[in-house]
Amino acid sequence: APAARLPELTPAERVEQKLIACGVPEEQLREDHQEGLLMYLEEHADKISEVTAAILSAGTEISEARKSSKKDKDSGSSSDSDAYSESLSWLQWMMFRNEPDAVLDDMEHSSAGERAVCGSVWGQNDLAYRCRTCENDSTCAICVPCFQNGNHEDHDYSIMYTGGGCCDCGDATAWKREGFCSRHKGAEQIKPLPEELASSVGPVLDELLLFWKERICLVEAPTRKADEGTPCKSVAEELTTSIADMLLRFCTSSESLLSFVSQRIRESPDLLDALTRAERLLDKEVLKNLHELLLKLITEPAFKYEFAKVFIQYYPGTFSQVIKGNNDNLLDEYRLIPTFSVQIFTVPTLTTRLVREHNLLGILLECLTVLFLSCVGEDAHLQTSKWGNLYDSSLRLLEDTRYVVSHEEVSKYVAYERPDLTRSWIKLLSLVQGMDPQKRVTSIHVEDENENLASPFMLGHYLGIIQNLLMKGAFSSPGQQESTDVTVCSTAIKGMESAENQRHAKVGRVSQENLVCSSSTRESSSSSELPAPATCLIRQCLKAIESWLEPGPRRRKLSSLDASSTDARNFLALLEDTLTINKGGSSKQIGDVGMKVNEGSQIDDAADYHEVVGSPAQESDDMMLIDQVGSPQAGNDAGKGKMNKSSNGLDVQLHSENAISVALTDGSLLYAHPDSRIDELGILNMTSWPRVVFDVGSQETSFHIPLHRMLSLLLRKAIKKCFGEDAKPEECSVVQSKEFFSQVLGGFKPYGFASIVMEHPLRVRVFCAQVRAGMWRKNGDAAILSAEWYRSVQWLEQGLESDLFLLQCCAALSSPEFFVKTIQERFGLSNYISLVLTEQNEYEPVLMQEMLVFLIQLVKERRFIGRSTADNLKRELIYKLAVGDATHSQIVKSLPRDLSSSDQLQSVLDSLAVYSNPSGMKQVLILEIV
Ligand SMILES: [Zn+2]
Ligand SMILES: [Zn+2]
Ligand SMILES: [Zn+2]
Repeated sequence: APAARLPELTPAERVEQKLIACGVPEEQLREDHQEGLLMYLEEHADKISEVTAAILSAGTEISEARKSSKKDKDSGSSSDSDAYSESLSWLQWMMFRNEPDAVLDDMEHSSAGERAVCGSVWGQNDLAYRCRTCENDSTCAICVPCFQNGNHEDHDYSIMYTGGGCCDCGDATAWKREGFCSRHKGAEQIKPLPEELASSVGPVLDELLLFWKERICLVEAPTRKADEGTPCKSVAEELTTSIADMLLRFCTSSESLLSFVSQRIRESPDLLDALTRAERLLDKEVLKNLHELLLKLITEPAFKYEFAKVFIQYYPGTFSQVIKGNNDNLLDEYRLIPTFSVQIFTVPTLTTRLVREHNLLGILLECLTVLFLSCVGEDAHLQTSKWGNLYDSSLRLLEDTRYVVSHEEVSKYVAYERPDLTRSWIKLLSLVQGMDPQKRVTSIHVEDENENLASPFMLGHYLGIIQNLLMKGAFSSPGQQESTDVTVCSTAIKGMESAENQRHAKVGRVSQENLVCSSSTRESSSSSELPAPATCLIRQCLKAIESWLEPGPRRRKLSSLDASSTDARNFLALLEDTLTINKGGSSKQIGDVGMKVNEGSQIDDAADYHEVVGSPAQESDDMMLIDQVGSPQAGNDAGKGKMNKSSNGLDVQLHSENAISVALTDGSLLYAHPDSRIDELGILNMTSWPRVVFDVGSQETSFHIPLHRMLSLLLRKAIKKCFGEDAKPEECSVVQSKEFFSQVLGGFKPYGFASIVMEHPLRVRVFCAQVRAGMWRKNGDAAILSAEWYRSVQWLEQGLESDLFLLQCCAALSSPEFFVKTIQERFGLSNYISLVLTEQNEYEPVLMQEMLVFLIQLVKERRFIGRSTADNLKRELIYKLAVGDATHSQIVKSLPRDLSSSDQLQSVLDSLAVYSNPSGMKQVLILEIV
């Protein structure tokens, strides 16, 4: 039966009723209200928690009643003040033992003009200042008043629009002390709350915080009846809004109070945890308030650390939600991560501690691995179509990883103490390696959607930036530690044994790996200048490339199972073995699948192709052989190259009796010398030059070879370390360079290395040449756009330049005959060059031109070897300015990243160009005629 509507109690009456039930004398309340309660509590201090609970329960009743009356009819806008505002007002009376507003106003006035930290919170598109002279990193900024009250004369500052965040003035971890404004002197200036106030605020606040946590936890309690709606949710939401408002008021009134509140919150058991989880439970509007409060509180360093610890534990759960839905839009539901990751991960000391003590980097890499694994196909590589749905989420994680590894401390720690993290990184790259391959269309013209085309390139861009930062540590000297391998091993193992890390790494494996490192570097340690982690990394990278190509048992396992994600997990697990365990004689790298020793008539074919080179009749036999092994048709107009017989007989590497052919997982076919023992040692260990058969014009080619780019980066850094601008010229002898490569390659053989490693960068070059020649017209825009991306400035460093350098290294390790012949074959120009002009095609002249340009670049390009930074800058600037005038920012944008960030930029610019007078908004640079 519908209950007769009782005259509604006012919120104050409700609270008073509760208090009376608690034992507070009625007449005292009726006459003096809050002051009456204070008088009562003076004599009954032990009742504080009971009274607090009673006051809060009044708020809960109002909230629940409102909810159910709203359900009856949607007109319940009678009393729109927050359900808890009356309760909180009473509690504040208890805290301050006086009229709260008066106390807070008082505090605000007494501390006016002498705050230690600014902490103004920005909204979208608020104005702020950056100052390159004062900032700790590029994410720091201060508000307009702070800029105006500070002294930034002669500093390099700029104005910007923010996307949120808060002012860094007064925060010594973000901003130089000299750049603080006159009103903010730094967090250590904050005075503690007076003893008396602390003892009255503390107990009530603690009770309130406990209640808050309980109400949030109730929302996710599983006992909810489905049809009952979510009264718990709305109660928790109203409570959160009210408390956040109240505490924000506290925080803005007094820093002492802020610091006190932050301490109580971080010490309240599980509250921070509940507050982060609240994001999955409460409404967005409510969370906005909560986040604003948290942003204020993290200006307090101790709070920031405690919050950060909880915050990073929140990553895996959040991303697993997003990944499960395979939808980037889900990430919009979780504002906590984008709001706070910049605030936390950019602070050097804090981040380093989180990485060391709480495995922050491990958590981020694991999230990325899980994300990638959710998008891999049967081939254990990322599927662009599926991954495209998680593009933004991937970038979010990559951005965060970039913040974390940008601290040098972190990259050094990873290099010397956490080899498991670099292995995780390499495994991530292995999942990306070979993604989004393109195949030439020869029949019908297809107009495919290219919406995801750019994403893998952007991914490569980010991977490049991160690995540049991540690898830095491996090339730094170990600091105070002795730079011997023994020390490295022992610190690594020590690191593993510490309780924190034990969960994340397998001690046994790590020590094994370090044995590999130490034994292999010792061979050439006489003139060694490369730190052990660097050589170790190069070797791991090579092993990963090998594993990616070899049709080993792991691959077989992979394709024979169905659930792709567990397969890929297996793949990663097996890759872990390759990366950690030394390749002893017993460990099989290649199964018998995909590999076969030619027998019978095939033997002759395999052998013949070498001896009967140039005879057109032989070609069909050659192709037959390929067909028999089951590889895709590898011989159309552009791909039927042959290894020509060399006059000096150097390349008679394949003996007719028993040449080995191996089908690699990328579709290429490898003919190797029978003695090469590929099955035991792996393809990178072949002592003789194998012949690789692959046709870019008819087989799948991918632009995305991050493992190669990592290798290129490592070699570049290694060469810079040994022969860089600081190294003395007399050290750069040929002997030195031989030693260098033997140190870098460790157990790998030069021919095995060069012949295999050169393949994929070379194929990308051939791809671009074919696009220019018009061979890929029927593929629509995709091929053209890819080729354009490849040479764009943004991608140059991890694309074209990186690949060219790697090919130069391969050239240095090859015999010229083999190297050039392989290039000719890959370009499909063997016949053209040998002047066997029986079959011609329209593409050959352009391909020829492209190949010659390529060869010239291989010989002449000195961007990463032999040229100083200043030389490189000079060259780039002349090219840019010769085309026309440019503004300073246009110049900076057009330069490759390593050059645009060089400290020599300004001096080189000054030597080449003059500033013209600022006209309007622009400062124009003009190339001076020298
Ligand atoms: Zn400020
Ligand atoms: Zn300031
Ligand atoms: Zn400044």
